[in-house]
Amino acid sequence: MKFYKLCIIGGGLAGLSLAYYLVSLGVKDIVIIEKSEVPGGLLITKHIRGYTFDVGGSHIIFSKDKEILNEMLYILNGNYVKHRRNSKILLDGLFIKYPFENGLKDLPPQKRFECLRDVIQAYIDRLLGKVKEPHNFLEWMYYVFGKCITDTYLRPYNEKLWKTDLRTISLEWVGGRVPNPPLEDIMKSAVGLETEGYKHQLIFYYPLRGGIYALINSLISSIKGLNLRCGEEAVRVLHDNNYNIIETSKDVIGCMYVVSTSPLNESAEMFRPILGKMSSNLRLLRAVPLVVVSLGFKGDAPPYHWVYVPTEDIIFHRFAFLSNYSPYNAPKGAVSLITEITFRDPDEATNVSNYSIVNRVIEDLEYIGILKNSRYVEVYDVTRWRNAYVIYDELRSKVLSEVRDTLNKYNIIVHGRFGLWEYLNMDVVFRKSKELASYLALKLK
Ligand SMILES: Cc1cc2nc3c(=O)[nH]c(=O)nc-3n(C[C@H](O)[C@H](O)[C@H](O)COP(=O)(O)OP(=O)(O)OC[C@H]3O[C@@H](n4cnc5c(N)ncnc54)[C@H](O)[C@@H]3O)c2cc1C
Repeated sequence: MKFYKLCIIGGGLAGLSLAYYLVSLGVKDIVIIEKSEVPGGLLITKHIRGYTFDVGGSHIIFSKDKEILNEMLYILNGNYVKHRRNSKILLDGLFIKYPFENGLKDLPPQKRFECLRDVIQAYIDRLLGKVKEPHNFLEWMYYVFGKCITDTYLRPYNEKLWKTDLRTISLEWVGGRVPNPPLEDIMKSAVGLETEGYKHQLIFYYPLRGGIYALINSLISSIKGLNLRCGEEAVRVLHDNNYNIIETSKDVIGCMYVVSTSPLNESAEMFRPILGKMSSNLRLLRAVPLVVVSLGFKGDAPPYHWVYVPTEDIIFHRFAFLSNYSPYNAPKGAVSLITEITFRDPDEATNVSNYSIVNRVIEDLEYIGILKNSRYVEVYDVTRWRNAYVIYDELRSKVLSEVRDTLNKYNIIVHGRFGLWEYLNMDVVFRKSKELASYLALKLK
């Protein structure tokens, strides 16, 4: 049996960025086990007849953490473009500026008035203590934004994305992730003055060539002596005396420490030897599955980056013009577009046929005027993801603390978006990798 100091399960961004920081701290003797033939996890890009599609959904590079942002750009080694966000919400045929509360000026006057009136009323009610403190995501929307903004955009959009009762999503999820602008900005936007919200995402970066996978490619080539074993799945983790044993689909490996980025809801069997009965609780963790339908077609695109679609009549909740992220993402005179569709459960996402979902997307794009004619479509792709958005329900925090504590006792650390079971963007994944690398470097050197 080959023995390593550290075995990382998963060669997505979390596993690779952890290896990157560990190697930069001089730690050697690490192996990464990746079940897919290609590393990168959600950051996979497909290239089809001149079109580039980020098939894990629209990914942009941004952060309020300047140090990490600079490190991500450094890794890209000059292969990136800088953008000022131009994103919209499609409502009743109108493209409203995103975030919605900064785009009230784009609404018809009556709606603009109602949204402004309700947000001021909600503000006064909060000041006077006339409303109960919110206990869940849905209550929080009404509490902060009032009835009109919530009923017109926030509630339908989030119900469409989460495919779950928003009352079951806890406030823990809201903090920092949902734009919560000053009242003054909302008033300005209602009278037609330009304001911006969600400002740390206003300027973003994107690879010039290679799609978002360029970040993975650059990361891989920056890790000296990388030992990445693709097409090999970690199946079981056992603890024997002072070390861990990983049974993979091809081998048995020994190691002092294990870092797992494998999705917790799919890790019940893998961790059963360590967690015992507790491991069944992992199956109770809920996430929203996603299907990304990509289309390459001849024609022009409006100058937007991505567009949110809150209404139920259109199948996708968001679409993104990747050819506006980089001109290399589509041939000249053509558009590279991805659409994102969530499902209630993984079976629903698996059972829908490629034929029916692609046709429905094409129909809807024609209906909203983005695709002039279905005959212009040159290529398409359908990619399914079992886990895209972690659901922060009540059960989550209870299951997680028990599981993490037990695993830690055996030098098994969970990491990454689905290992930690947290709504993590790439910058936070990098930050957590950096912190974990500092901790492990002390233990492993
Ligand atoms: C639709 C969508 C849009 C997003 N947009 C943005 C954005 O614009 N900006 C941003 O910063 N972030 C964005 N994110 C978040 C970003 O995708 C994640 O932060 C990041 O990709 C998480 O990387 P990870 O390595 O933790 O997980 P993953 O990408 O899931 O990687 C985990 C890896 O582990 C492997 N694996 C799993 N189980 C095993 C096993 N048992 N054995 C071996 N290998 C295994 C998997 O094959 C996979 O390669 C977005 C996420 C989604 C879903």
